[in-house]
Amino acid sequence: MTIADSNAPDDSRQGQIEQAIRQVTALIGKACDASERSPQQVRLLAVSKTKPESDIRAAYQAGQREFGENYVQEGVSKVQAMTDLADITWHFIGPLQSNKTKDVAQNFAWMHSLDRLKIARRLNDQRMKGQPPLQVLIQVNIDDEHSKAGINLTEVASFAAALQAFDQLTLRGLMAIPRADATPEQQAQSYGAFQQAFGNLQASYPQVDTLSLGMSNDLDAAIQHGSTMVRIGTAIFGKRDT
Ligand SMILES: *Cc1c(COP(=O)(O)O)cnc(C)c1O
Repeated sequence: MTIADSNAPDDSRQGQIEQAIRQVTALIGKACDASERSPQQVRLLAVSKTKPESDIRAAYQAGQREFGENYVQEGVSKVQAMTDLADITWHFIGPLQSNKTKDVAQNFAWMHSLDRLKIARRLNDQRMKGQPPLQVLIQVNIDDEHSKAGINLTEVASFAAALQAFDQLTLRGLMAIPRADATPEQQAQSYGAFQQAFGNLQASYPQVDTLSLGMSNDLDAAIQHGSTMVRIGTAIFGKRDT
């Protein structure tokens, strides 16, 4: 068996992933209907962390073009193994330490988890000339959880202003990983505040168009609160082992 063969999905896995993407797309459509939004306003980011290259190829064959990875080394090796799929857009969505910024700066098109200026400066300096600017989202800790990364909502305006100094970064919006155990009331409150902060940011920066919010288990609420990009792993690729 050749390497290419081992990275090709088998027929049943291909069918499974195709069906899952259809189902998720239908759920996005339903949530958009319920909020009187157009499904074209919500992009699907397939979160492929821990999943093999063959799964990404299966999703690609099903028409998926945007993929999210959380771990630098794993992500970079996937990006470099799939340069034949030239129209994939790769998003880095995980925590990033400053000694790994170069890998993200040079291999990804988007970075969702920006919450430190030191990281921004390094990404800006390490993005190669000739590459388009790195598209960045500011990660916000919308539920003020000690365990979570992200800046506070009250810091968004000043952080965004500071990012304007970096010409290899284009600020496109905000990202959050909400707490999973919120009551519906807490969720409405924190998603609502986040949506409002996004609106304020859009009013200041015309290129800001992306609210990265919503995972497999909060897709409806995210779309109701203005999400323009949902990050879906489990509902497409199945449970992760790790
Ligand atoms: C893993 C992950 C996801 C996908 O979560 P699922 O529940 O599997 O859909 C989305 N966003 C981030 C930042 C993640 O780490």
